[in-house]
Amino acid sequence: MPGKILIVGFGPGSFEHITERARGAIEESEVIIGYNTYVDLIRGLLRGQEIVRTGMTEEVSRAQKAVQLAKEGKIVAVISSGDSGVYGMAGLIFEVLIEQGWREGDNPFVEVIPGISSIHSCAALLGAPIMHDACTISLSDHLTPWDVIAKRVEAAAQADFVIALYNPRSGRRTRQIVETQQILLKYRSPKTPVGLVKSAYRDRQNVIRTTLEHMLEHDIGMLTTVIIGNSSTFYHDRLMITPRGYQRKYSLDTLEQKLRPAERLRTENEPWALHAVLLEERQSIRQLADEALAIISGRPAQLMKSNAAHPSVANSAATATSAANADGNEAFFANGHMGEFPSAIFEVAIAPGVANKKFTPAQLACLADMAKEQGELEYTTAHQMILRIPTKDPEAIVAQLQSAGLLLFPIGDVVKVKACDFCDGEKHEGIPYAEELTRRLAGRKVEKELRIGFNGCAMSCYGAVNDDIGLVFRKGTFDLFLGAKTTGRNAQPGRRVAEGIPADRMMEVLETIVRDYETHAFPGERFHKYWKRVGQIAGYVYEENAPAVVAETVCGN
Ligand code: SAH
Repeated sequence: MPGKILIVGFGPGSFEHITERARGAIEESEVIIGYNTYVDLIRGLLRGQEIVRTGMTEEVSRAQKAVQLAKEGKIVAVISSGDSGVYGMAGLIFEVLIEQGWREGDNPFVEVIPGISSIHSCAALLGAPIMHDACTISLSDHLTPWDVIAKRVEAAAQADFVIALYNPRSGRRTRQIVETQQILLKYRSPKTPVGLVKSAYRDRQNVIRTTLEHMLEHDIGMLTTVIIGNSSTFYHDRLMITPRGYQRKYSLDTLEQKLRPAERLRTENEPWALHAVLLEERQSIRQLADEALAIISGRPAQLMKSNAAHPSVANSAATATSAANADGNEAFFANGHMGEFPSAIFEVAIAPGVANKKFTPAQLACLADMAKEQGELEYTTAHQMILRIPTKDPEAIVAQLQSAGLLLFPIGDVVKVKACDFCDGEKHEGIPYAEELTRRLAGRKVEKELRIGFNGCAMSCYGAVNDDIGLVFRKGTFDLFLGAKTTGRNAQPGRRVAEGIPADRMMEVLETIVRDYETHAFPGERFHKYWKRVGQIAGYVYEENAPAVVAETVCGN
């Protein structure tokens, strides 16, 4: 017959607090092994079992005896007070078995039976002191180096854990609790509530409510558990209570709550939660991205930072907040390929050159490699690729793309310059102007995306006349088109406002127009609307188009 070891935690000491299974295990066993005091405590449950009693420091021989008897085929109960896995016999039994080559499933069969540990029984007698994160620390340095214990006390104090101190003091070990109090006082108020519970649920039960500064004035011994409150623990009459935090959101004295159930989990109603903190972190990542993009476009970072809604990181504050409000999730990540929350999405527009429309295979490979599975590449109507990738280091991305010889532009509400390919470089006279225009204006932050189209000849096959500002290079001079509106019922191309602007004056004219719009446009106001509102820009007067002729419909409707 295979033997059994039942490792029983019998709780604080009263029969009422022993679990059903612990009682059953004691009844079922043929041998009871335990420390003298424990055997006495459960005496009332014994029915003639063989008893192996040992002294205080005899745990190892107790465990070895248990293993030996069980291997002989006996059903052995090894008893611990509280829970057998909390400074009890459970771990030691396994260690002894493992030393003998035992594997799970081998003889003897082992069952660990949980019990109510002192942290819980003592807390119950004090009120509700461990309502928040708590830990147990044993001050016994017989098996644990004191510097390890001190470090744990320090860490727990620092992290504001409620702390249950086991084995706080014995006849020989009297200094440990004094040292512990000193460490705790470095981090917690002297007024912090401290409960001293001796012999919980036993005949000599004694509960003392004191404070961190006065705790040592009371009797603390081998049968005491010391419960140290956290920074918000308080006394109410004789009760020691640690609030869980309900008052942050709920009023406890009215039936009516100011937050409806649907509102309670919203980001703005829990600004302390991780998702709110990550949002904030993302703002700072956005700033980083702005700085990186300022480097791209060679302008000082402040210029880019000045507008809080700069969208160079896709999940800008506005998007992320409203998405998070909807259901606590991020809409941006909900589209399948973004499972992860923590890093922001860096977004940048890429082109192989101003006139050059050809990516080299190496550049494409570089983009593909950067996008991998987590990112995405999008081809846009502005003849650019947009790369979106989750990252915390946009500057590194920028550096890598630039070293691949790619031109980078911020995206969103910025000035965008789109030049044609100059008939694959054949009509190259205009290229230096297009490049200078790009260098000086592209990426500049404006109220609404401002598109400047640049065509190298009168063919205008890249459709510059359909952009907010269109430039057509013709016989060494420029024709200027303004105010195209490409969407809506009253869509129209730009109006030709000037012909034959000398090439060396073009930059100045464009600078004036862009600066005017940049400085005076209303938030979100498109270029053509702005021009219409102010009546003239850089001396070019706005004119209404002749109204369209409404065609008569044949059938009368
Ligand atoms: N396995 C036990 C802990 C054993 S270590 C458990 O889970 O509770 C021994 C320490 O436990 C004692 O020094 C004391 O700090 C605490 N302890 C055990 N029984 C207790 C009781 N009835 N009342 C208060 N503290 C107790």
